[in-house]
Parts: sequence; structure tokens; C-alpha cells
Amino acid sequence: MSDRTDLLGFDLEGLAAWCEGLGEKRFRAVQLLQWIHQRGESDFDAMSDLARSLRAKLAVHARVGSLPVLSRHASADGTVKWLFDVGGGDAVETVFIPEDDRGTLCVSSQAGCAVGCRFCSTGHQGFSRNLTTAEIVYQLWHAQRELTAGRPDARGVTNVVMMGMGEPLQNMGALVPALRLMLDDRAYGLSRRRVTVSTSGVVPMIDRLAAECPVALAVSLHAPDDALRDHLVPLNRKYPIAELLDACRRYVPHAPRDFVTLEYCMLDGVNDSAEQAHELAGLLRGRLPCKINLIPFNPFPASGLTRSPRSRVEAFADILMRAGFVTTIRKTRGDDIDAACGQLAGDVQDRTRAHERLAAAREMPIRGPLPGRRAGDPASAFDARTPPAKGCA
Ligand code: SAH
Ligand code: SF4
Repeated sequence: MSDRTDLLGFDLEGLAAWCEGLGEKRFRAVQLLQWIHQRGESDFDAMSDLARSLRAKLAVHARVGSLPVLSRHASADGTVKWLFDVGGGDAVETVFIPEDDRGTLCVSSQAGCAVGCRFCSTGHQGFSRNLTTAEIVYQLWHAQRELTAGRPDARGVTNVVMMGMGEPLQNMGALVPALRLMLDDRAYGLSRRRVTVSTSGVVPMIDRLAAECPVALAVSLHAPDDALRDHLVPLNRKYPIAELLDACRRYVPHAPRDFVTLEYCMLDGVNDSAEQAHELAGLLRGRLPCKINLIPFNPFPASGLTRSPRSRVEAFADILMRAGFVTTIRKTRGDDIDAACGQLAGDVQDRTRAHERLAAAREMPIRGPLPGRRAGDPASAFDARTPPAKGCA
């Protein structure tokens, strides 16, 4: 089983090359892509317009991989959360959020995350490994298949957000072919504006995304100044706010709707004051075409943080809107099944001791500059641990 190639791991180019390697014509890849991704078929024998000889070869050399579903929960509001077993004691979560006009799938890119943001449950779990393209795509394949099974008129997934577990831009090699499949008319056919990559700010990879597969970009800002962002998003010590905003500005000409979304998680007494809203407006004014999305913090016990009161979130939004920024407040969905932003923790074999690091950080005051900025930077340790992104097809 394991020597067979998982065809979910290929975009069209990759699959065409693989078909050639098998002594088949490249155009077979189009047929395969349509069977697998549009019709959700995993049984080569059922692919009736493929020659019998090709089907026989596929049965020997290929498979459409599957991940065991460890659990599936449906929320009262229609949100569905799957926990997939990716082997080695790691499990990742995927969430489907139905709304009146769309169905959004929140997809994971890593088992855990090494960035270690203070307010994020995934970050507290630590990092195990990058997901493969096949594992990223499987989440969409499975959800789409389940949501539309036996219901040809069902809408299923119309939007994908790379906002599940992990930092997608630390897994570029696997991410880019997965994004290409999402966009390919012969696979999922989603428009660029309906596929969003969210990042904590891996600056060089923002440029690479623009060059290789420019989809909608969301950047997790969370603070108006470096001292606070250093504490909340440790990657800031490597790529501070000014560099991050410059990268966002370079991205805008490639963005499907000419702006970048800035995400800001509202933490009680930490980043939610009127003064900080003015500071944020001052930071962004004239600098970046953007929309701001305020996310009410979804608490989990180990964070030691609490959600900003609704009135403060609204006051913060009001200041930004008066300053001319389109600002939205994210609706919290699926929190009864721990499926809301930042609550995805899956099950991760931490290889980073993030848990201990964050437990120690919890004891530190959250305001004020960190001693030795950039020195002993966990982001550097992270770089050493993470395999370099492979060249993309
Ligand atoms: N690693 C990427 C994408 C996954 S996190 C990133 O950080 O952007 C997706 C979004 O959820 C990010 O904006 C993140 O800041 C936010 N988030 C994380 N923990 C959260 C929490 N506990 N409550 C609310 N939002 C959270
Ligand atoms: Fe990683 Fe994003 Fe969570 Fe930060 S918010 S720890 S980057 S998943």
C-alpha cells in the first residue's frame, strides 16, 4: 500500500509528469484529476473512460490516499470539525463553516505549529511536522465528498482558508501544489479570491507566494507595535512589523482583490485599548490597502488570557472605521465543539518543547520590550528544525 503513489499529492503538472513516467500520455492527468477531485472517485476501476490497461497500472502503482477520521463533531450552528490521523501520533483538524452564501473550509497545513503564538492553542501544542500536499488536499477532498455525497445539488465547499493548524508559509513546498489544485478548473475550480492563505508573517514567503500562486492573503498582525507583537507572535523578532507591512504592500498588486486582510485577535487588556486602535490606524494610514478583521479571542485554559468584552471590540472597530479602514468583527462559529479560530489543537507529538516555552512565557509580563530582541530567537531555532521548502511544481 505504502509504495503506491498518492495521487492527491499532485497538481496537474505533477500528475502529467507522473503519467509520463508510467509511459502514459500527459493528458491522462486531466482525466484523472477530474475523476479524483470533481467526482470524488478513489476506485480506479470505476474510472470508466480510462483504458483497462491504464486502470490496471494505476491499481499497482497509485492510490488515492485516505486518512482515518478519528472524530467528527457537528456544532449546533452547522459547523463540522474532523480530526484526521496523519500517523506517528499526530492528528490534525479541519473545520467546515456553512453560511448563507458560502461554505468555508478551514484547512490545516502542519501537525502543530512552531511559531508559538501566546494566544493560540495550536502554538501551545508545539510542532511535529509539515503536512504533505496529499494530506493538505485530503482535507478538502474528504470534506467535499462527504458534504455532497448523494446530493448532487449540495453546495459543499466554496471557499478555503488556510487558517487551521500550522503556519502555511513555513510549508511552501507542499502548500503551492495544493493551492494550484484548489484553483484548477479541472479539480476544485475555486477562484483566487475564494482561497485565502493566512500567515503570522513569514516575510520572504509572502513574496514567494506572490510569484508562485497569488491567492487572497491574510496577515495576523495582532499588535500595533513591535514590543507587544514580539510577545504575542514570536516570529516578529525575526520579521518585525515594518518589514511585514512592506511585504504586504509588495503583495497587493498580486492580491485578487487589491488588498490584504489584517487579522487582529482581541485580547482583554493586552492589545484592545482605544490608544492602541489609534496607534494601529496611524501605523497603517497611507501605507497599505487593507481590510481589518477583528477576531474575538477564543479562550483556552493554558493561555491565561481572556476575550475582550464586546463593547471594547466595538469601540476598537469604531476608531478604525472612523480613521477610514474597512473593519469587520469575525463571528465566532463552532465554539461549542472547540472548532473556533485558535482552538484547533489536534493531537501533536511536540518536537519543539513549545509547551514548556509558552508555560514560561505565561509567567512573564506581556508588555514592554523583550530582553535581547532577535537574540535567542525561537524563530531561528524553528528555521533549523523545519526542512527547507521544496521546489514547487
Ligand atoms: N498560522 C497562520 C494561520 C493559522 S491561525 C496564522 O497565524 O495566521 C488562523 C488565525 O486564527 C490567525 O489569525 C490566528 O491569529 C487566529 N487565532 C489563533 N489563536 C486564536 C485564538 N485563540 N482566538 C482567536 N483567534 C486565534
Ligand atoms: Fe501558529 Fe498561527 Fe497559531 Fe501562531 S496563530 S501559533 S502562527 S497557527
